[in-house]
Amino acid sequence: MITAAPREQSIDAMPMLPSLEQPAAPRDHKRIGSAAYLALTGRHPAGAPIDDDRSFDSHVLASVLAVAATEDGAVAERAGLAAADLANLMAQWFPAACSMGVAWRVEDAAADDEEIAMVRDLLLAHRSSEGDVGRWLAAMIARRAIEPNHLWEDLGLRDRAELTRLLARHFAPVAARNTRNMRWKRFFYRMLCEDDGLVMCSTPVCTNCNDFELCFGDESGESRMAERRREVSLQAAVVATGASRSWSPE
Ligand code: SF4
Repeated sequence: MITAAPREQSIDAMPMLPSLEQPAAPRDHKRIGSAAYLALTGRHPAGAPIDDDRSFDSHVLASVLAVAATEDGAVAERAGLAAADLANLMAQWFPAACSMGVAWRVEDAAADDEEIAMVRDLLLAHRSSEGDVGRWLAAMIARRAIEPNHLWEDLGLRDRAELTRLLARHFAPVAARNTRNMRWKRFFYRMLCEDDGLVMCSTPVCTNCNDFELCFGDESGESRMAERRREVSLQAAVVATGASRSWSPE
């Protein structure tokens, strides 16, 4: 059963949105994103309930569209959706805001970016949910993954835990393989390399690798713990090296 955003609330948010089609000053991005989220769901993002799977999916879809609405360019393209998929998403999940979706579509589909397509196909090959949402999310995550910030930020989510839950819900086989809590974007690339028989890593041991920060850098509290574990490991290696030198026959 699909639950639409409360119609009155969505319509009330519309007057806040004309500026969505204009390039926005940086200081306006948060307001525009919140207005777009409100228009879609009838709620402000900070208080959005995500107790059950359906409300969580609604929150995720609205978050990606809202963050895409804060950027220059067509929202459909920024969100990684073809016009037909955006229309279906709006009709199924946010019917009260369909008129906004029409303005967000891009009619001329851009050529498939190879990097986006690879991540999208990786996710599609590891789906754990039925229906359109997982398919849309594979395209949305892949498109947002080429943006420069942490993936959860570029998806408009509130924290990394929401991204982890999203992946565990819709792409469980991918989520289950990230046993060392790597950054998600980096983990996708590592999976792509492994599946193609390629090697992303320049060293066999992460603690000796110059790319450690890229793979395990600050994305959440848990990642900071990984950094501390690395520091302890490096210190132990330095001590062991010193001890071994002190026992050298020279
Ligand atoms: S830190 Fe280095 S060795 Fe470890 S997964 Fe990343 S690239 Fe590979």
